[in-house]
Amino acid sequence: MPTRTRFAPSPTGALHVGGVRTALFSWLLARRDGGAFVLRIEDTDRQRSRPEWTREIMGAMQWLGLDWDEGPFFQTERTQLYLQAIDRLLASGDAYYCTCPPEDLDARRKAAIEAGRSPAYDRHCRPGVGPGPTPGVAGAVRFAIPLDGAIVIEDAVKGRVEFANADVEDFVIARADGTPTYNLCVAVDDADMAITDVIRGDDHLANTPKQVHIYRALGAPLPRFAHLPQVLGMDRARLSKRHAATAVTSYRDLGYYPDALVNFLARLGWSHGDQEIFTREELIAAFGLDHVGKSAGVFNPEKLDWLNAHYLKQRTPAELAADLRPFLEERGTAIPGDDAWLAKMAATLRERSKTLLELAESARSFLSDELVFDDKAVAKFLVAENEPVLRDLASRLRALPEWTLGGIEAAFAGTMATTGRKLGAVAQPVRVALTGGTVSPGIYEVLDVLGRDRSLARLDAALARIAGGTTSPRPAGA
Ligand code: GLU
Repeated sequence: MPTRTRFAPSPTGALHVGGVRTALFSWLLARRDGGAFVLRIEDTDRQRSRPEWTREIMGAMQWLGLDWDEGPFFQTERTQLYLQAIDRLLASGDAYYCTCPPEDLDARRKAAIEAGRSPAYDRHCRPGVGPGPTPGVAGAVRFAIPLDGAIVIEDAVKGRVEFANADVEDFVIARADGTPTYNLCVAVDDADMAITDVIRGDDHLANTPKQVHIYRALGAPLPRFAHLPQVLGMDRARLSKRHAATAVTSYRDLGYYPDALVNFLARLGWSHGDQEIFTREELIAAFGLDHVGKSAGVFNPEKLDWLNAHYLKQRTPAELAADLRPFLEERGTAIPGDDAWLAKMAATLRERSKTLLELAESARSFLSDELVFDDKAVAKFLVAENEPVLRDLASRLRALPEWTLGGIEAAFAGTMATTGRKLGAVAQPVRVALTGGTVSPGIYEVLDVLGRDRSLARLDAALARIAGGTTSPRPAGA
């Protein structure tokens, strides 16, 4: 049978970085086997489901490149299928009407707990077991779990898991108003969609015996199950907003590459030797449920940053410029140069950036001539004793026939020789003059990216500032 996997999010919130890993593993398995990946939107909770969350989830999957072959299917549009299944289960005796009023159920549940018995439904309405339903009263429908025996699943991650039928309640498959319940819909859909591998979070393990009973009663072949351990934060608590951004789309907005996030998520709980960096093709070829670990994946934000920096370095300067542009546009930043200039600037700054957002932020002094000065740096470096250094360098730079890295380097060498200063003692005041602060890429690159006119204007402004005797970025007296 061709592999068919699915991702079945409930549109009650943003796609979560923990949750999307199950989508990724399902997608990888389908792609590896040349099978199909199905998207199913589990929107039966009408109170909490919202179309905007469906759009957000699909947008996040598209951004990650987790394309689906079938769907999206919406459970709210498949009610007929569920009702037919319920009718079949009633007809075969695998389900029965339960007319117990909710308050009676509650009272009996409480009494059972007090008496130290199981609070599970007492099968009052089950034909042949209890007194049976009250005739003429609309009731819920319950599944009749066999009274003995067990469900055994060979979970691809958890291994063999056994659920004694005695521990599984005769659960409701249709409410008294006729609406089908969660486990019924999931099992009917997975059977109808011929899903071969159900990959999901292990918070759904407890639902599995109920779903298997439905499969069996409907005569549908069982899928393989793989229940993935939860994703934890560095402190080993379940991943939450306390640890990191949890919505997939926030990683897009923070300037992470989808390939970096996919690579990172793949390694959360799955391994292939000690390989850390995978192209998508490599992931597809290497992926298998046999190397998914039993222990929880730990979300290490530093590792994600490291991976993202790797992908950032892989881009050509032109690609990087195109990646960066939306981040600049979003901030309303004017770009004082053409595509080639932006590419050069981005390539110069990327060594120090982990994300596109960081890159955009670190580009401020290259994009705008309104420098923001660091007071301490100004007080330390834009001082009278550095005046001859800056003046000498400015005149050498002004005299350069061509503005090239080689020429810039030669100008610095000249100033070092004339002033007897080491490179650092020349570069720091220049850096403050050109960028407003003491941290930047290599000083020659900074000059190269800024170009002759902007560099000289900034050096002249710094000289004027020193001559004016003010070490503050604010005009004297302000
Ligand atoms: N809709 C469920 C959820 O979002 C997934 C159910 C499943 O994968 O079987 O948790």
